[in-house]
Amino acid sequence: MKFQSINPYNGEQFAEYDSLTPEELTAKLKASSEAFKQWKKTPLSERAVLLKKAGQILRDNVDEYAEIITLEMGKPISESRAEVNKCAWVCDYYADHASEFLANEVIKTDATHSYVRHDPIGTVFAVMPWNFPFWQVFRYAAPTLTSGNTALLKHAPNVFGCALKIEEVFKKAGYPEGVFQNLIVHHDTSEQIIAHDTVQAVTLTGSGGAGAAVAKLAGQHLKKSLLELGGSNSFIVWEDADINQAVKIAVTARMMNCGQSCIAAKRFIVLEGVYDEFVSKFKKAVGELKRGDTMEDSTQIGPLARRDLADQLHSQVERSLEKGAELILGGKQDNCFHEPTILGHVKPGMPAFDEETFGPLAAMIKAKTIEEAFELSENSRFGLGVTVFTEDIQKAMDMAEKISDGAYFINELVKSDPRLPFGGTKGSGYGRELAKEGMMEFVNKKTVYVK
Ligand code: NAP
Repeated sequence: MKFQSINPYNGEQFAEYDSLTPEELTAKLKASSEAFKQWKKTPLSERAVLLKKAGQILRDNVDEYAEIITLEMGKPISESRAEVNKCAWVCDYYADHASEFLANEVIKTDATHSYVRHDPIGTVFAVMPWNFPFWQVFRYAAPTLTSGNTALLKHAPNVFGCALKIEEVFKKAGYPEGVFQNLIVHHDTSEQIIAHDTVQAVTLTGSGGAGAAVAKLAGQHLKKSLLELGGSNSFIVWEDADINQAVKIAVTARMMNCGQSCIAAKRFIVLEGVYDEFVSKFKKAVGELKRGDTMEDSTQIGPLARRDLADQLHSQVERSLEKGAELILGGKQDNCFHEPTILGHVKPGMPAFDEETFGPLAAMIKAKTIEEAFELSENSRFGLGVTVFTEDIQKAMDMAEKISDGAYFINELVKSDPRLPFGGTKGSGYGRELAKEGMMEFVNKKTVYVK
């Protein structure tokens, strides 16, 4: 079986990759198992040095890695560079903090000595999406490898070139053979991989359907799973908000990565007193975003990563219009390109409200009161994050408990940061990545008791 890399900006196929044969896959699983035996004994200080080197290699080759991201999934080159630099940051972060996170935790009991160790568990299998093809992998690999586990990656087939470059980063940094391995395989091989003795856990970032399929396999084989799935974040604007600032942040929150982000703001819930002002300023700002060649530094909006994703978004626009939404801006599709689109008067029952919209589509929703805005926000099967814009910080903080999502940001877009735990609730998945919490997901918290 062969996989193609196609540049969504111009439709050109520029690379082709052969799938691993069954024998090659078996050999890689064995190599992962063998590598774990040595890697888990490698002192943490040495593992941290290698991670620092990986970060340095990313920084030293930022243009090369950014180029493959843009070629394969079509995000503007300036955003690809930012993604590579963020990966270097997460490497530095875990290199600097791993010894603190993995230190024994002493707990006073009636024992002479009792404490918790944090030992590696084996191989952690990652199934990853194309939308942040470097970042999603590094935010899993940096803590997972540094705690002494080995890693196997099955990336999305449209970014297999990125996957090979990521493997190269770890090789160049000096990681031993077999510690991080990329697998060019169809997702049908997931069961064989998850069932293997060396694999002790699986982490998936992607859609709910893929998450459910992989979690089912993990359950069948009694392996731990972590799921980072889609979202339909609300962006709530109160009447006292600084509207100009809210608009500036809202544009980035929705249009970054051409809207293809799980934590993008998708539902803009605006109090009625400022609805017209917010919508007209947002429309002006979105209309000014520069579209064009994804390799140009000044380009802000590119194509979607694949034709089927643009088709799906367009169908969501059309079905929402049929149900009574108002077209404020955009609305047209051309192959992989979809115009930045704003729909007004969006309500529950419309696809733009109920479904995850994975592209440059902003749904404007009017609320009469703050309470109604929060109820609308909660009316979602997803639970990744919420933004509230207001000058009344205390009141916004007091209302944090009303939100069931995994993140609540006041006057800022929901974003991931190596220092803060990241993850969702409800249909957005379970488990946490990043920060100490992310490192604790794939370790054996071993109780040691001395009488
Ligand atoms: P997807 O199908 O969920 O793909 C994500 C990863 O899961 C890929 O590596 C994919 O491999 C794998 N996968 C899919 N089905 C699987 C299965 N049954 N068993 C094992 N692995 C499986 O995502 P997509 O098709 O690229 O996008 C579809 C929707 O997913 C988007 O519209 C968006 O709603 C959501 N999405 C969310 C995120 C996020 O960051 N939360 C990222 C991407 C997409 P194959 O491609 O080989 O199937």
